[in-house]
Amino acid sequence: MANGSSLFPIYGEGLIPASLGTTPRITSLLIKPASAVCNLDCAYCFYLDREADPYKSLPGRRMSEETLERLVDTFLFYSYPNSVFAFQGGEPTLAGLPFFEKLVKFQKQYGRDGQNVSNALQTNGMLLDDSWCQLFKEYNWLIGLSLDGPEDIHDAYRFNKAGRGSWKRVMQSLSTLQKHKVDFNILCVLSQANVHRPREIYQFFKGLGVDNIQYIPLSEFDEQGNPLPFTVSAEEYGRFMVETFDLWWPDRRKIRIRFFDNIAEALAGQKPGSCTMHETCDSYVVVEYNGDIYPCDFFVSSEWRLGNLHVDSWTEIARKQRRYAFAKNKTIPHPECQVCEYQAICHGGCPKSRHAMHRNFADLDHFCQAYKMIFRKSVGPLKKEVEKILGREVEPIQFYSISPY
Ligand code: SF4
Ligand code: SF4
Repeated sequence: MANGSSLFPIYGEGLIPASLGTTPRITSLLIKPASAVCNLDCAYCFYLDREADPYKSLPGRRMSEETLERLVDTFLFYSYPNSVFAFQGGEPTLAGLPFFEKLVKFQKQYGRDGQNVSNALQTNGMLLDDSWCQLFKEYNWLIGLSLDGPEDIHDAYRFNKAGRGSWKRVMQSLSTLQKHKVDFNILCVLSQANVHRPREIYQFFKGLGVDNIQYIPLSEFDEQGNPLPFTVSAEEYGRFMVETFDLWWPDRRKIRIRFFDNIAEALAGQKPGSCTMHETCDSYVVVEYNGDIYPCDFFVSSEWRLGNLHVDSWTEIARKQRRYAFAKNKTIPHPECQVCEYQAICHGGCPKSRHAMHRNFADLDHFCQAYKMIFRKSVGPLKKEVEKILGREVEPIQFYSISPY
C-alpha cells in the first residue's frame, strides 16, 4: 500500500509507535447519522448505490442514542477546548429533530468550562421548518443548503425518487432560514446544467440575499475513466470561476466565496478552511452511523476503515497507521506540481480528484488546469487586498502538519 516517498513506510493495521513523535490531532468530525441514506435521488449523487459503500444493503441505518452519547462524551474530552461537529449524509436531517436535540443535551452535559463547541449541518433542505431553524438559531449552527441555481438548473439533477424536482421546497427552506436569521451558506454543485452560466448563477444567489457560497465541481468517471455526462472539465470549471471572480470582486467585502476565501487565508498565513488546500489529508475524520471511522468522506470503504468509537479511543484512531497512509496520498509528488508556482497554496489539489479517473493517487488532479486559471486570475488582487487589511507584505507559506510523512 505504500505510495510515493518512503520517509514513513510503515502501513498496516496497527498503531504508529510512540517513538515516531506527536500524532496529528483530529480537529473536527464529519458525522453521518443516517449514513448515505437520502430522501432525494439526485442523478449526479456520488453516495447513492456506491459499490464500495460498506453499509449500502443494511436496513435501519440511523445512529443510536448510545452511539451519539459515546461520540459526544469521548470527543469533547479528546478535543478540549475546541470541538467541531459537522453533520452530513446522505441527508442528516433524516435522523430527526429529537436526535439533534439530544446531541445538544449531551454537549451541555459533557462539555467542560471554557469549551468551545461548534455545530454545522449540510442539508438538501427537504425537511427544514420553523422547529429546525429555532434550534439552529438558538445554538448558532452553521447550515449548508444545497441549491444549484434557478429552478430549471436545480431540478435538472436534483429530484426525488418519484422524479419530482426539489427546487420549490429548497426555496421554502431558504426563506425559513432567513426568517430565523440562521447563519447559512449555499453549496452549489457545478454540473453540465450550470457550469456555462456563471453570471446567471451569481446574480441569482445575490438576488436572494445570500452572502456565502461554495461551488463544488463534479468529477465522476466510469470504470474506463470516461467522464459521466454531468462531470465538468477542468477548463469549464476554470472559466466558471474566473468569470465569477470578476462578478464577485466589487462585492468582496459583503459576499464570501469559499475558494477565494481559502486563497486569501493561505496568503494571510492561516491554514485554509478547505482540506483540499492542506498539505496532508489528516485534519478531520468521518463518523458513520454505527461509530465506524474513516479518514475522508470520499473514501468510506472497508479498505480505509480506521476503527470504531465503541472500541477505539480518539487517541488510538489518530495513531492508526492507515490514517497516516491515507494522509500521505496528498504528498505523492507529481512532476507538474513540483515545478508549479502555486504549489505552496494548492499542495497538489485533492486526492479524490487525483484518484477519480484511473483510481490512481499518483495522477495529477483532474482540475489542475482550473486551479491554475483561478490562481492566475485571483492571487494577485487577493494578495493586494490581504496586504491592505493586514498592513504588511505577505507571501504564501507552506503548512506543514506535525505529522512525519
Ligand atoms: S481526499 Fe480531498 S476531500 Fe478527502 S481529505 Fe483529502 S483533500 Fe480533503
Ligand atoms: S495547480 Fe496543479 S500543478 Fe499546481 S500544485 Fe495544484 S494540482 Fe499541482
